[in-house]
This record gives sequence, structure tokens and C-alpha cells, in this order.
Amino acid sequence: MKVLVINCGSSSLKYQLINMDNESVLAKGLVERIGIEGSILTQKVEGRDKYIIQQPMKDHKDAIKLVLNALVDKVNGVINDMSEISAVGHRVVHGGEKYASSVLIDDVVMKSLEECVKLAPLHNPPNIIGINACKELMPSTPMVAVFDTAFHQTMPEEAYMYALPYDYYTDYGIRKYGFHGTSHKYVASKAAEAMGKDIKDLNIITCHLGNGSSVTAIKGGVSIDTSMGFTPLEGLAMGTRSGNIDPAIVSFLVKELNVSVEEVSDILNKKSGVLGISGVSSDFRDIEDAAAEGNKRAQLALDLFNYKVKQYVGAYAATLGGVDCIVFTAGLGENSPETREAICHGLEFLGAKLDTAKNKVRGKLTQINTDDSKVCIFTIPTDEEMMIAKDTMEIVSHK
Ligand code: AMP
Repeated sequence: MKVLVINCGSSSLKYQLINMDNESVLAKGLVERIGIEGSILTQKVEGRDKYIIQQPMKDHKDAIKLVLNALVDKVNGVINDMSEISAVGHRVVHGGEKYASSVLIDDVVMKSLEECVKLAPLHNPPNIIGINACKELMPSTPMVAVFDTAFHQTMPEEAYMYALPYDYYTDYGIRKYGFHGTSHKYVASKAAEAMGKDIKDLNIITCHLGNGSSVTAIKGGVSIDTSMGFTPLEGLAMGTRSGNIDPAIVSFLVKELNVSVEEVSDILNKKSGVLGISGVSSDFRDIEDAAAEGNKRAQLALDLFNYKVKQYVGAYAATLGGVDCIVFTAGLGENSPETREAICHGLEFLGAKLDTAKNKVRGKLTQINTDDSKVCIFTIPTDEEMMIAKDTMEIVSHK
């Protein structure tokens, strides 16, 4: 079975065509600048040169048309006909409280997705546009929605409720939802597999550290707490997001800067985090380089980031009542030995001892704890697309 995985952003679209018979990626691609000048599609197939199409794409339907053309292209494509695509899996950021797992898309699901727009005004609309465009172009192909929030629907009430008037939860759905669920679930299952243990018997802390970052406490295979909240702004400091701050800072800034609440929200989402502290970049590679050259604010940004991750690991060890395994994933978690070392430094009291030699690794599943460490520590490349394809296949096969 071949599954097309689609991840639609506001002006971009990532895709992968996966052959689920042997879990191999047949083609992966990125469409950028949809609806703006300079639209471009780049498709990669293992062992071949990149296939690049530069032509105007006025909307996501145009973009998906081009993706399908690229996949069936006589020279650069990987399939003969669109009918070879058995199903499409769509990444959807917010499924609200309704979806604790992936779901076959029908009219009822589409209505629920529309209802979730209020909760994720930046992310859900492009996801919906992408699904509608695919439905138009492939009307008889089954489609599945895979939610970033679904994995965290197992959190207990005391973890997901905010200490606000209770009516705000019932009337407006204000609660912690959590994000990056597909990634946390994937790396936790890979870690259990690598340990040769049943995930049901394990307490795992997964650290998804990228441009957006979150930490999750996983007990017996289910999420019991996570650092992102009502929106992906809560929790750790990130590339450009502030993470947790005193909420009183918002009204203080509104008055002091004489700006609107929306402008402060923009500052917290786009101008804060390690970019705001360092003044250098939101990209950790740039910040690491600047810190190595003696830039003190860049070093502070890294120290602050690592400190906050370590705090969550400590907090979640308490939440879980002990930890068997800590996993690092995503751009930074997979590729930065320095970040992993700084976070693990001082966690020996938990029984977590990093092996600095084994830790000198990038981008491949590796166990990086010392032989006498009670806690297993891993770096595991995340693969949200494969997870989406697996869920899609499972749901379509049982339809
Ligand atoms: P992601 O959002 O998962 O794609 O992660 C992106 C972040 O990972 C960026 O801030 C990158 O700078 C960071 N990253 C990727 N590769 C490296 C690396 N080799 N060293 C440090 N940071 C990296």
C-alpha cells in the first residue's frame, strides 16, 4: 500500500509518498511560496538528482496538483498513475478534545476541524485547505487526519486544567492540549523497542527539541503531561517563542510599550525565545557559533534553554514517580551533543548518566548513557511522516 503524507502550512506544503509494504520513502518534497511570487516545488528521490519545478501556484490546490504531477512524471516520478496512491494522511495540528486518535475524514470530521480553528487560528486553516484541495483532486481516495494534540488526550484533569475560573474550560475550551504528539509517541515507542521492553512497563521522558520544543511525560505508553499548553507558546523557551513567563508581563507590556494585546502576542511568539535573548538568530546553529566566538548573550540563550529543559525533566521525573528512559529528538535533540550534555549534566541524582563519548553522535538512533546508568538515555531521529502513514494505513485497512 502506498500512502501520501501531506503537511500543509500557510504558504508551504511538505509531502512524502511512502510504500508501506516495506516502509520505504519513495519520494519526499517541499512546496514553498504558495500564493506568492516565486512558487517552487522541490522533490527528492533517493539516488536521483533533485527535481525542481518553478511555476506560479495561486493556492494549495495548484500546489497539490503539481505534487501529484511530480509523483507521476514520466522521468522524475515514482509511480505510473495516481490510482496507485491508496490513501492520504494529513497532519492536522489541533483536534481539540474530540480526537484522541487519528480518524477517517468525512463531513462530520471536517465540521469538527472547522470548529477547532478558533483554538489554532494559524495552523488549522491551512490544514483544512490542504484536505479540501486533496478531496477535490482525489475524490475517491480515503483520507485520514492525524492530530498533533491526540496523543496528549490521556492527560489527567489536574495536568490539563489551568487554575482559571472553571467556566472558561466549559465555555471556551481553555485547557492544556499539548502538541508534537505524533513525534513524542513515535520516539517513545522506538525507545521501548530499543530497550527490548514493553512500553506499558516504562516511564519515559521525551524531549522534542527543535525550533518549537516540548517535553512529555509518558507512563505505560500514554502521555500524562506535556510542556506545551492551550497553544504551542507554553513551556520551554524556543527559537522565537518565550515559553512560560509571568502572565502579568502581558498587561505590563501593553501599558509600557503602548501596544495592543495582539502586538504583545506577536512579540511572545515571534521575537522572544533564544532569538530574543541572543539577538543573534532563532537558529541554534548560529547561536552555538556565536557563543563559541564569545558572544555572552548567545551563551545565555543556550544556558537558559538548557536550564528550562532540565527543569521539565526533573518535574516530569516527579510526575512519573521515577524515570526509566530519557529521549532526545528533533533538529536540536538529534544533532547537538552539546545541548544533550548540558541538559543531562547534574541529572546523575536521578540515576541518569550520560556517556560523553557515545553522545558524540548526530542524527541516528543511539543509546548514549554510561553502562552503569540506571536510566537509559537515547537520541532518536523523529519520523512524524512514517507515524502518520502508519496510522493512515491502519485506519484505511479497517474501514
Ligand atoms: P526542527 O524544528 O526540528 O527542524 O529543528 C530545527 C532546529 O534544530 C534549528 O534551530 C537548528 O539550528 C537546530 N539544528 C539542526 N541541526 C543542528 C546541529 N547540527 N547543531 C545544532 N543545532 C542544530
